Amino acid sequence: MHRGSDKDYRYLLTRIIPRRRLSGERRAAIDGALAGGARIPCVRQAYLALEDLCALGEFRRDGLTHTERSVSLGYRSAREAVRLSLVMTADEWRSVTGREPAADRIVPSVFAGIISSLALNDSPKTIVSRVEEMLGLARHIVGGARAKLLFINNAPPVREWPRDSVAFLPQSEALKRRFYHACLTGSTPHTLIRLAGDHSGESAFDIDAGTGSVLLLPLLARDIRWAILEAHLPVDSLDRSALSSFSILGQGIVRLLENNRHLETMVSIDRLSRVHNRNYYELQLPLEIERANRSRSSFAFLMIDIDDFKKVNDTYGHDTGDGVLRLVAQTIRRSLRKIDLIFRYGGEEFVVLLPGAGADSARRTAERIRGVVARAELALEDGRKVKVTISVGGCIYPGNAQNENQLLRMADKALYEAKEEGKNRVVFHGE
Ligand code: GH3
Ligand code: MG
Ligand code: MG
Repeated sequence: MHRGSDKDYRYLLTRIIPRRRLSGERRAAIDGALAGGARIPCVRQAYLALEDLCALGEFRRDGLTHTERSVSLGYRSAREAVRLSLVMTADEWRSVTGREPAADRIVPSVFAGIISSLALNDSPKTIVSRVEEMLGLARHIVGGARAKLLFINNAPPVREWPRDSVAFLPQSEALKRRFYHACLTGSTPHTLIRLAGDHSGESAFDIDAGTGSVLLLPLLARDIRWAILEAHLPVDSLDRSALSSFSILGQGIVRLLENNRHLETMVSIDRLSRVHNRNYYELQLPLEIERANRSRSSFAFLMIDIDDFKKVNDTYGHDTGDGVLRLVAQTIRRSLRKIDLIFRYGGEEFVVLLPGAGADSARRTAERIRGVVARAELALEDGRKVKVTISVGGCIYPGNAQNENQLLRMADKALYEAKEEGKNRVVFHGE
């Protein structure tokens, strides 16, 4: 291991590096540096000699680590079991390579910080600000660069996206636009459009003066096409190291989106019934009220309770009871529209929200749900079939109730009436 003292570099240059593989020019430069005796020329020659040897296939780069103050480069001999590391200060790195250490260093370390600080109770706002923070790193990779995310499907994975750093495009539309199409369907890991040579690019992207090229990176993970990272760069500013930093940036954003989805699932889905849980109900109901107020529309609130469920448990056991719960939840979910929501409110009770529904359509939907559940059956291993019915109490926002508590109270009252009237039926508030 070469820790980087002056003596180590002399030793590296005289003893370790196989001089006979190097060009005469390189050997002369090494001799010059050794004769001069100063540290920086020796470090530079050691670095250049090892890079030459990598180009010749004699050595391989084996890691690059940046810390606050030093840079460590690892090399491994292709033939012998020799590993070397060149350790230099950030200033030496600049002087030796002519590059800033920051671009390579800052991006991965900030990602690690951002990703490891994700918490279960992070609000969508926090996730969004973290993605923004990551996009802001583009200008550390290339001065003057600007990056945004383009989501290709209409369903954004996070509910609150910021205005300028994110855009949405339906897949059909993206596939029509040449550059996005190439990025999404091509086999290359990135698409670089030099605007000077390709004027159609200027109209395809919303570019500022000073933007010379556009880099598109598809953000993919396990068959999910998350988005395209679109970076606007000054002319010809993309070297290999910057490209690799953008690709790390893209991977970091994918990790963040994946983690967010995972956390959202964990905190919003009931594991037994696989529909939304009470937590999520508490988050969504106020949003639904807000949406109805904004669009001056109504929605229906249904409280659903399985009839005589205790008997199911008593007759068939708790495991079968669980199976029936899941069957009822999934049967209801399948008979709803995409925009409707179902939550397990507790025990064997579910809440269903039907955005946009008025009294008539809500009643029809509730009746349909009641019917499909009554026909569904759970087949047991011994051949027996278990069937249950449900009772439904419903009310309409804002017609019957003006806030969350009233909705719950009115629906519960209607549900009670449905039970009183003999179960397996639908009752709406005021009927
Ligand atoms: P009703 O028609 O009046 O609603 O009768 P019911 O028997 O359904 O009413 P009750 O609310 O008294 O009983 C609900 C039962 O649901 C009691 C409880 O053991 C059962 N239960 C609640 N959660 C679960 C669960 O997660 N799994 C199983 N298997 N049973 C559950
Ligand atoms: Mg109950
Ligand atoms: Mg019940």
